[in-house]
Amino acid sequence: MDYESLNYEDLHWIMVMLQTMDVGIVVLDRNYHIQVWNGFMENHSGLRPENVRDKYIFDFFPEIPKQWFTHKLDSVFLLHNRAFSTWEQRPYIFKFKNYRPITGIEEFMYQNITMIPLTSLDGSTNYISIIVHDVTDIALSKKELKSANEQLAYQSRTDHLTKLNNRGFWEESLIAEFKRFKRYKEKSSLILCDIDYFKAVNDTYGHKVGDDVLRLVSKTLMDNVRDTDTAGRYGGEEFGIILLGNDAKGAMLFAERFRKSIELKKTQHGGKTISVTISLGIAEFDDIIQSHVELMERADKALYESKKAGRNRSTIYSERLQVQAV
Ligand code: GH3
Ligand code: MG
Ligand code: MG
Repeated sequence: MDYESLNYEDLHWIMVMLQTMDVGIVVLDRNYHIQVWNGFMENHSGLRPENVRDKYIFDFFPEIPKQWFTHKLDSVFLLHNRAFSTWEQRPYIFKFKNYRPITGIEEFMYQNITMIPLTSLDGSTNYISIIVHDVTDIALSKKELKSANEQLAYQSRTDHLTKLNNRGFWEESLIAEFKRFKRYKEKSSLILCDIDYFKAVNDTYGHKVGDDVLRLVSKTLMDNVRDTDTAGRYGGEEFGIILLGNDAKGAMLFAERFRKSIELKKTQHGGKTISVTISLGIAEFDDIIQSHVELMERADKALYESKKAGRNRSTIYSERLQVQAV
């Protein structure tokens, strides 16, 4: 546009455009006093241009982080460059209500902000224009997508019935922990656990009651593990627990505590009280073995030993079991 030939008519329609644009336009002087306040800003803030003209912006918007904002503005004045703030950095600068008629969403307007130096014909910059974009739609759809993805990720690693880690995820964790052990040698243990005579529960009370028992055992397991332990359902009525920072003795203490708490739990069905027991096998991570599969085999041998010795007990793997099992 040829600025020299701009007449009042042109200026008038430029002003109308600024007033009615669907973005916020604010002009500040060097002292952060408001010079321009367009219709968008008026509509969303309820403040009329004549109320805010020549007023210090922070008096009207105390929620703007002053130090951060003035730092940005000062750099625009100094360097004559644009500056930006995105909703991902700060959801908003001006706290405006979000009028979207959908319930259950954020109440404020997400904003992307651009700060533009307004350079005079003599090259000096004494004003800054702040452009406010309403990006609520984009922000919400991105947030919804993120939460849908998180939900999907959760579902893909979780066992539907018990809400424990599923076999795939749990085994991946075991592989990762075993690799970590090979590097850092921190004592850790694996426990495998199997419900005793579970087939009889199904046969006597039906599959649905069997499922209730599985949920109860899983819940008890979750209540017993620490944040650093990884518990998973690796078979029908079989569970695995990775105990970090525990040698076999420490794992034995955990196994026995868990076993005893299962022994005390009851499931009610048709006036009958059902209780189950579990058998456990423990294998400490060992530098001699090559893979997590061998570790599983060791814990499984110890578990088999618990079954053989009468069930409802815990056994630590030892070479002796290895020899016997052959
Ligand atoms: P043991 O003491 O030797 O472990 O005997 P058990 O009866 O527990 O052993 P077995 O492996 O013969 O039985 C496991 C049963 O678990 C068989 C199967 O029907 C049942 N089962 C596996 N998955 C599920 C499930 O998701 N829900 C229910 N209700 N039962 C299941
Ligand atoms: Mg089994
Ligand atoms: Mg069983």
